[in-house]
Amino acid sequence: IPPIHVVGGGLAGSEATWQIAQAGVPVILHEMRPVRGTDAHQTQSLAELVCSNSFRADDWTGNAVGLLHAEMRRMGSIIMSAGDAHQVPAGGALAVDRDGFSAEVTARLEAHPLVTIVREEIAGLPPAEWDSVVVATGPLTSPALAEAILDVTGEGQLSFFDAIAPIVNFESIDMDVAWRQSRYDKEGPGGDAAAYINCPMTKDQYEAFIDALLAGPKAEFKDWEHVPYFDGCLPIEVMAERGRETLRHGPMKPVGLTNAHKPEEKAYAVVQLRQDNALGTLWNMVGFQTKLKHGAQTEIFRMIPGLEKAVFARLGGLHRNTFLNSPRLLDRQLRLKAAPRLRFAGQVTGVEGYVESAAVGLLAGRLAAAERLGKPIEPPPATTAMGALVNHITGGHMEGGKGSFQPMNINYGLIPPLEVAKRDADGRRLGAKEKTRNKKLAVGERALADLARWIEGEPAMAAE
Ligand code: FAD
Repeated sequence: IPPIHVVGGGLAGSEATWQIAQAGVPVILHEMRPVRGTDAHQTQSLAELVCSNSFRADDWTGNAVGLLHAEMRRMGSIIMSAGDAHQVPAGGALAVDRDGFSAEVTARLEAHPLVTIVREEIAGLPPAEWDSVVVATGPLTSPALAEAILDVTGEGQLSFFDAIAPIVNFESIDMDVAWRQSRYDKEGPGGDAAAYINCPMTKDQYEAFIDALLAGPKAEFKDWEHVPYFDGCLPIEVMAERGRETLRHGPMKPVGLTNAHKPEEKAYAVVQLRQDNALGTLWNMVGFQTKLKHGAQTEIFRMIPGLEKAVFARLGGLHRNTFLNSPRLLDRQLRLKAAPRLRFAGQVTGVEGYVESAAVGLLAGRLAAAERLGKPIEPPPATTAMGALVNHITGGHMEGGKGSFQPMNINYGLIPPLEVAKRDADGRRLGAKEKTRNKKLAVGERALADLARWIEGEPAMAAE
């Protein structure tokens, strides 16, 4: 069987390599370290953790990343099994001894009879004779390869920074305060005159909000992270620094909107949220990209009327991050439509996080191996955490023209929700917390059942 080539031996590339080899297909892994380094990696180990040593919450019954752990374990993930073997105490989270973890992944890949590891930079498009390649070069993809990818994908289709506005779970927005309306009732995205959710502010609330933005602790950039600010994409605290009225004349302008709850009251400023996925479970705060520290973001954004109890599916940020406009560029097999011999995996596809990157590596490896063996498979259904991630990066969430593409961690907002009973077996009305707990459990059970069917090669249960 001719080999599959994997470029990049990080979280995604190591997992993809393992899955391909375990499927019985030879694989050549090309990793540029130590020949060439990145600004974040410190060692020459495969699957190096560049920052925290945590894989986050491990409980599949109550946490979306925990569910992804559980699914990956069921699929024979090397990242999860090495993580489990090198666990350090971290409460409900899975944290690992970083050196032991990376050393184990490296040793197991080196020892695998079907794996060859070459330490070299792929400094341009992979050679044309490589007919099946998994590119897993991560957020710090080397410039020569990034430029070559840009040549194939076209201008604007590969980003080098992410400027991200916070994303809020719909259920946590107080719609007794907020209301739906597009500015001047003009049709918004998807042809909807009520496309936005609006949160009104009085003058006092606006002034207090600006004070909090100016005083809030900001994350520092590392030297290598110097971000060129584009005027259309300034962090809100930078806008506030330019003048106290700047936001009120920019993303928070109150014009063309009438408070549905208090039509007689003219808002002094308005925060708008735009639907971010086809399910309508996630809403992004328009123009609210920020470098405020995460704790400060939660505190300050909950000052916004209607968002006092906001649950954030992701907080805002600005990072060095190389990622594709995947919904446009990739097919459901994670292949580049313009050059299908190239499959992408990991953070470069627009997922975020160690676990998510490894998960997409796992899937890309399985898809590539199945294709090589002449028995192509479909990705798991969107009811699984793994399938929800693929759906996100390949644009399933943007059906109907709604939603934007931003790199994201796995979260329940990406998975189709399930309705659960409002009362318990004794007829007692359940509280909001109990219902949320039951919903998460039900989503987890459905995901693992659907994944089991997918692993067996059976059609999955349809999403409800
Ligand atoms: P990587 O793990 O970065 O692997 C990519 C590999 O490709 C690297 O080994 C690199 O050397 C190699 N490579 C690049 N270009 C080439 C080339 N042309 N030829 C050959 N090899 C090449 N996520 C978290 O969950 N927790 C965190 O704390 C966290 N902190 C982060 C801190 C920083 C500074 C950055 C940049 C990211 C962080 N992330 C974090 C996000 C992300 O999850 C990790 O970066 C994760 O390692 C991504 O996995 P990956 O496999 O896609 O890329």
